[in-house]
Amino acid sequence: MKLAVVEGDGIGKEVIPAAIEVMDALALPVEKVPVELGYGKWERTGSAITDDDLETLKECDCILFGAITTPPDPAYKSVLLTIRKELDMYANIRPIKPIDGIVGVTGRNDFNLVIVRENTEGMYSGIEEIHEDVAYTKRVITRKGSKRIAEYACKLAKSRQNRVEIVHKSNVLKSDRLFLDVCRQTASSHDVEYHDTLVDSMAYNLITHPNRYDVIVTTNLFGDILSDMAAALVGGLGLVPSANIGEKHAFFEPVHGSAPDIAGKGIANPIAAILSMKMMLEWFKLTDQAKLIQDAMEYAINQNWVTPDLGGKATTKEVGQVIAGRVKQLIG
Ligand code: NAD
Repeated sequence: MKLAVVEGDGIGKEVIPAAIEVMDALALPVEKVPVELGYGKWERTGSAITDDDLETLKECDCILFGAITTPPDPAYKSVLLTIRKELDMYANIRPIKPIDGIVGVTGRNDFNLVIVRENTEGMYSGIEEIHEDVAYTKRVITRKGSKRIAEYACKLAKSRQNRVEIVHKSNVLKSDRLFLDVCRQTASSHDVEYHDTLVDSMAYNLITHPNRYDVIVTTNLFGDILSDMAAALVGGLGLVPSANIGEKHAFFEPVHGSAPDIAGKGIANPIAAILSMKMMLEWFKLTDQAKLIQDAMEYAINQNWVTPDLGGKATTKEVGQVIAGRVKQLIG
């Protein structure tokens, strides 16, 4: 396996090495290709990502990514949006599942849902105009884009509880009428149970009744916001992994950003990055190895090897070392 490793900026430089240490404990035949992207690179070279970087990413079997800081440049083009679009990774998968031993803000753990976010269009189409007194961002929803994300969500639902919740704002946005219609038709043709909710109502329901949902499918911006919010249900941003999946490429990253407020202090929670690496193993169908990572992570939490966001005293490095050590023990 040829793996592009992008640490990025801020805590990306701390949580990705921890995830790699855990992956290395599995002793898999992985060729790691480090790729520098982001704010640091932009400061040094004037460019946060180059065409050569994109080529390197395309040549690898998949990508493990930390997070990057957005440079303070009005003309800056998002690195993440560029990668997702160039590699056509249209499905952003964000599982929201309680971890044993950790309680989120609502105190409940009777839910297990996945947010499937369309990743290449919507409000993040990149079609924008900035004038002195007015600025425009074009929200693009296509039949093709809606159909393929709806199909992804339905296939995922088939392997779970066969239920899809379509989240939209079609009472106000005409573009979402198309999204909703296509999602309904797709769910119906896949024989998947479906229901739809307005995004504002969904924000409320996610907090009050997260157990109502199995697979949630939504557009780009709504998925981005709802998944950060949903992270609070499971104990915080330090715990939620994600995958960006396309026909040819896949990219795994924690949901959180570069967290400049804690970067360099060695206290970032590496679990979201470690679980992203675990999603990568599952994508490669290395299910036994993925299970080892889950067991080792639960062991570390059980032994209170957790970072301050979870009320512990452990450093990022220590959590990575304990989980890696446990993986080695389990392998025997
Ligand atoms: P953030 O996710 O970086 O941080 C939000 C809050 O969560 C902060 O208080 C932070 O300390 C905390 N947090 C995040 N990850 C944590 C972890 N692993 N352990 C413990 N606490 C954690 O969001 P932000 O502060 O809005 O953004 C910071 C920078 O990151 C910005 O430049 C933003 O554009 C960028 N960003 C990048 C990505 C990405 O690369 N995927 C995603 C979101 C934001």
